[in-house]
Amino acid sequence: MEKLDVFYQAKLIPFPEVQASFNGEEPRRGKILCPFHPESTASFQIYHDGYKCFGCQAAGDNIDFVARLAGVKPYRAANMIAERFGLSTNKPLSKKKLQQINKVKQKRTISQQYHKLEHRAFLNLIEFRDTIDYIVQLIGLDDLPDTVIDNVHELPQVEEYLRVLSIGSTEERLRLLRTGVIRKWARI
Ligand SMILES: [Zn+2]
Repeated sequence: MEKLDVFYQAKLIPFPEVQASFNGEEPRRGKILCPFHPESTASFQIYHDGYKCFGCQAAGDNIDFVARLAGVKPYRAANMIAERFGLSTNKPLSKKKLQQINKVKQKRTISQQYHKLEHRAFLNLIEFRDTIDYIVQLIGLDDLPDTVIDNVHELPQVEEYLRVLSIGSTEERLRLLRTGVIRKWARI
């Protein structure tokens, strides 16, 4: 739990409950004997959200009360209240919350992996196109081996893949993804 969160949560508990739990006095007409000064007549007034002693003028909220009673700093007192009333963050996250977090993580990982795949396919497609272009220029269309001729026939399709990957709409990219072309070209 964040520090501010602990303070906030600790203050949400009704003061009478904090008093009962940490000091254990039974109030009479909303008053108890003051734990901060010796007295025989109760002058420590208990409110829903704090206290005020009409004998020694001590006043405050849940955290002030526990801090002074236990002789600890406010942050420690807030933690003590949080722990006592089961507000501790050390509590495991709920199943639903965990599922939500995992879903977001999973989506992010899949999207990152896919972008890597797309990028690799894009680079391979460019390399393929440039290599075939280079061979055609070097040897000339007429003397190309059959395997390279097959590759030349692939070039228009390769150009189309490159167009979709660089400036295609989301729909076009999704369509390309479904064909398995990206995976195939990412591996080459
Ligand atoms: Zn007092």
